[in-house]
Amino acid sequence: MTDDPVKKLMEESESFSDFLPEGCLLCQKGGKLVLFVTGLCGRDCFYCPLSDDRKERDVSFVNERQILSDDDVIEEALEMDALGTGITGGEPLLRLDDVIRYMTLLKKRFGQAHHIHLYTSLAADDETLEKLASAGLDEIRFHPPADLWPSLEGSDYERAIRKA
Ligand code: SF4
Repeated sequence: MTDDPVKKLMEESESFSDFLPEGCLLCQKGGKLVLFVTGLCGRDCFYCPLSDDRKERDVSFVNERQILSDDDVIEEALEMDALGTGITGGEPLLRLDDVIRYMTLLKKRFGQAHHIHLYTSLAADDETLEKLASAGLDEIRFHPPADLWPSLEGSDYERAIRKA
């Protein structure tokens, strides 16, 4: 028996989906608005799914609708009866002020129960994590670059993950 809490859950579970986080469970139900904050990123991951019309372009989309004003975000959320929002990019933390503004907008309109998770490839510093938490972020996913995968222990990513 392992002491690692994640490995322990995996050993005890008969199904990987038994311990999916709430953001993933809502996504499985089709309840998550996809908020693409910017195509800017600066990395070149071999698995990058971005299309040419989004990659390294400072454009914003909510689902497939280009965001021209904050109203686009609210209208799209209402149209799909969104239960929550997944914030992505590009690298959304390159546009931290926009992320905070959208989160505040969504929580104000739909309440704290509107579940928000965010993907980042950065080892966010404490100040950034505290701003995200204060604005109501419910979950965060860290995607460190592939060349760091063998050496995450003791890195800024470990610090950020533990802080989060
Ligand atoms: S961090 Fe994300 S958006 Fe940037 S290159 Fe990698 S997969 Fe693509």
